[in-house]
Amino acid sequence: MPGQTFTTTEQPTPGSSETLETTPVLVVGAEPTGLLLAYLLSKLGIESIVIEKYPERLGAPKDHALSPRSLEICRQFGLDTIAIRKLGTPRTDAYWVNFVTNLSGDQVGRLPYERMGPATLKANPEMIHNIPQPVFEQYLTDQLSGDPRVELRTGIAFITCTQDSGGVVIVWVCSTYSILSYRPWLLSRKVAKQYNIANVLLAGDAAHSFPPTAGLGLNSGIADVHNIAYTIAAVQ
Ligand SMILES: Cc1cc2nc3c(=O)[nH]c(=O)nc-3n(C[C@H](O)[C@H](O)[C@H](O)COP(=O)(O)OP(=O)(O)OC[C@H]3O[C@@H](n4cnc5c(N)ncnc54)[C@H](O)[C@@H]3O)c2cc1C
Repeated sequence: MPGQTFTTTEQPTPGSSETLETTPVLVVGAEPTGLLLAYLLSKLGIESIVIEKYPERLGAPKDHALSPRSLEICRQFGLDTIAIRKLGTPRTDAYWVNFVTNLSGDQVGRLPYERMGPATLKANPEMIHNIPQPVFEQYLTDQLSGDPRVELRTGIAFITCTQDSGGVVIVWVCSTYSILSYRPWLLSRKVAKQYNIANVLLAGDAAHSFPPTAGLGLNSGIADVHNIAYTIAAVQ
């Protein structure tokens, strides 16, 4: 909707500086959805700037399961899924879901992890893979390092944007966070009323967030940016 303003709850902190520049695509957030979007756009020949409000990645535990479809998307765009597998948990260690009385207690049962048996490969080129989210994010960051089409800037917070027929005008600030580790998280399910307004698009948890059960969050973010990258490339 031309002329519409979008604003986050982020507030400029004292001492921050404002910057206005030109880029074909601004990606807000350098976790899996944003990092992979920048990577896919680059492979499709499109430059982007990625801004991330935190200066460093926080290592809080989150996703651990990459779905077969996510790995197919990685592979389609030249990411080495064998290398990704080597960075994660070996299948022999991740094959069982164990039920225990406590972390050092008795095992009272176990089930095979879904979609991890050899039969999976009869229907899919990839089987589900366990890898800690921060490790996968670092892998993606490494792939972007030195990419002339991607500029990753940390410690920069998106504040607000307006758009008209000439494009989107975005305001961001250099933030001055000194938080070492903090990641509030509430079990919830939410979906945005709209996924895009003209040239401003939502993806990943910004568009929809799930309880972690069934491992849908990161994997659906990957599916979002697979679609968005092609859509942006088609209209560039
Ligand atoms: C305990 C737990 C277990 C989970 N298990 C799974 C699983 O097995 N499988 C699965 O698929 N998913 C799982 N998830 C969900 C998964 O972690 C999320 O879906 C995923 O992180 C979403 O990625 P994202 O890039 O869309 O968003 P986020 O990871 O939230 O990243 C958004 C980024 O944007 C940055 N940002 C926010 N606002 C601004 C701003 N104004 N300016 C600049 N930067 C900004 C943030 O700092 C952050 O780095 C789990 C989550 C939890 C908490």
